[in-house]
Formats: sequence, C-alpha cells, structure tokens
Amino acid sequence: MTLIRSWVESANSADCPFPLNNLPYGVFSCGDAPRCGAAIGDMIVDLAACEKHGLLDAGGTFAEPRLNGFMGLGRAKWDQVRAALTALLAEDGNRDLPLVAMVDAMLHLPIHVTEFTDFYASKNHAFNVGVLFRGPENALPAQWTHMPIGYNGRASSVVVSGTPIRRPMGQVKGEDGPIWTACRRLDLEMELGAIVGMDSTLGERVSVDRAEEMIFGYVLLNDWSARDVQAWEYQPLGPFQAKALGTTISPWIVTQAALEPFRTKGAERVNPLLDYLRESRPGLYDLTVGWTMNGQVMGQTNYKTMYYSSAQQLAHHTSSGCPMRIGDLLGSGTISGPEPDQTGALLEMTQGGKTPVTVGGESRTFIEDGDEIGLFGHAQGDGYRVGFGTCLGKILPAQ
Ligand code: CA
Repeated sequence: MTLIRSWVESANSADCPFPLNNLPYGVFSCGDAPRCGAAIGDMIVDLAACEKHGLLDAGGTFAEPRLNGFMGLGRAKWDQVRAALTALLAEDGNRDLPLVAMVDAMLHLPIHVTEFTDFYASKNHAFNVGVLFRGPENALPAQWTHMPIGYNGRASSVVVSGTPIRRPMGQVKGEDGPIWTACRRLDLEMELGAIVGMDSTLGERVSVDRAEEMIFGYVLLNDWSARDVQAWEYQPLGPFQAKALGTTISPWIVTQAALEPFRTKGAERVNPLLDYLRESRPGLYDLTVGWTMNGQVMGQTNYKTMYYSSAQQLAHHTSSGCPMRIGDLLGSGTISGPEPDQTGALLEMTQGGKTPVTVGGESRTFIEDGDEIGLFGHAQGDGYRVGFGTCLGKILPAQ
C-alpha cells in the first residue's frame, strides 16, 4: 500500500507518524472542553466541530470527552466515519475542515478505561524473566505455550502520556525479614494495548474471529513495574502492588483498520493450540516498537515476535464467560526480542541488575528519579509510516 495524499501537506512526508493512511483517534482540548479529534500530519481534526457542521455523523458522540460513545456505535459506523474522514482530508477534499495545530492542543486519556487486563505474550520475555525469578529449568511454566497468561489489573491507575509517575513505597524482602522502603528496582514494560470497542455478555464465549471484530485499535502501553515488590509478593496469585503504581498509554488510538496492511503471523508454535484459540488468519502486525531513556534509544524490536495476538487473548479472556466491556484495555505483555538491545524492560536488559547500561554517560540498572522513559512504534509502508506518537513518563521521587 502506498501513501494516500492529503491536502494537509505535513501529512505527506515519509516520516510523519500521522499520514492520511493512519487517522488515529484521540481526545484534545485547547483551553476549552475536551472533545474527540483525529490526528493528520501536525494538525488535529476537530471531530466535534465536524459533526456540528454536518460533515460527519457519529450521533453526537464526538462532543464527549472520551471515545467510548463512538466505539459503542459499532464497526459499521467506525468504517463509515473513517471513509468519510478520508474523503474530507484527501487532496480533493474539503479545505474548510475545522483543524487545530497539535502544538496548541492538550491531549487527554482517549477513553474511559472500564477494565485493564495485562498479559504475558512474548516468549522471549517470559523466558528471560522466568530465568531471573526461577532459574532456566523452570523459566517457562508448563501452560505457557497452551494459553495466554494474564492477570486482572487496575483501570484506575491508567494515565495518559506525559503524566508524571511517582516512585512507589512498598514491602520488599530484606536480610532479616520484610522492610518498608521506596522501590529500589523500578522498571518499565514496553507493551501494546488493545482497546476493546464492543461488549460481550456474561456467559458468552467469544471466538478468535469475533474477538478481532471487537478490537477498535491499539495504543503504546508502559506497564511500570516495581521489581523488588514484585519478587516478594508475586507467588502464588501474581503481581499486585508491583503493577499498581501507574500504567501509561499513548494519547492516539491507531485503529485496526489503519494497521490492516501490516497484518502478519507471529512466532512459530511450539505445540498446536486448542481449537478455541486457533486463528483463521494471522493476528499480529509488523510493527517496530522501541523505548528511550532520557531521549536515548535503549531497546527496539518488533511486535510480530509475540506468541499470542490480542484477539487470542480476548477470546481466552471470555473462555469462562467473563464479559468484556467497551473501553476494556488489554496489555500485550512486554515485547522483547532475544538480544539484550531488543528487550522491553530493564530487568532483562541488565540481567536483573547485574550488567548496568550506560545512558547519557551515566550508569543505570533500574530507573532513577528524574529519568524519563518514552515508548515509540510504527508500521513502515511504502513511502509512509503509520505511527503511534509518543508515550512518555517521568519518575518523581517517592513520598
Ligand atoms: Ca506487563
């Protein structure tokens, strides 16, 4: 697929994250009421104003400060609005569209996050972390290649890019019993977040194909992690306070429609999956993802290395009859390749703190106060890219 040219000239450059092929949705304000918008080049289309002027029809939902209302209109409406917006922004489109400059806008959390579940779908990551926590013999649990492993997280701690993150206090293992301390091993986890745009009901088992249809789009997601708290608390029920200090997502939701040309299959299967987890078509995307510390690129890999797709995770999530809600956020799990510079967490990159890395001339094993972590990601087309923008968070000292 090639670039679809827009009359918004900044959208036509090869390294712009937001060409007309992308059209991600977000929520913005300019010192006034937050409302829905779509990114195009270095501008934002004011979708609420478009609706007001009769240029789009989304039942008035674009005037709301969250995209949940629009998502609730369903896939046929998502497709209809995307087609209409594409026509308005194409070279022969409507040059009187209400646009605002992105530099003048404040970006907000794009959805009301109804629920948050975090998975563990990178085999490299699961193995690397398993070695550090349990040794190489027990690294990958027996069920790992048979089903997506996840835990129910907290929607209340999800924040938008740019929100400062406070180093947590916590109970950790000391020499002579537990101690209460500021986290000493603060880490990031580079993930993709899938946003569920349709409900399912209690008792309904959703197929992988149906799960695909329910996913509205994707964001970058940093699942901040307190490793010392995690190591002490995680058995037998999994992470709890180690993962509740904050989860940062990028402000623009890249739709499944925009990622469609980059669909690809994932990692090779170790064993066949049970029928309810089998896909009728490839469920991953060819997406470069990486992270920075204080502006320096630290790790970079590809989302297509994952073992389970978001659709498989969603299908498994409903296998007991658990209902999904509009605004459900599903974290992919840390995305890591096999090499240290392909890992999405410092825990893996520094071998549990044993091999420090150099950042701006300083040594790091884990994140220090004042450090800023950024995630980036894009799919590369022919002369254009579908980007996610940034997902930033700076660490404040414990209090
Ligand atoms: Ca995680």
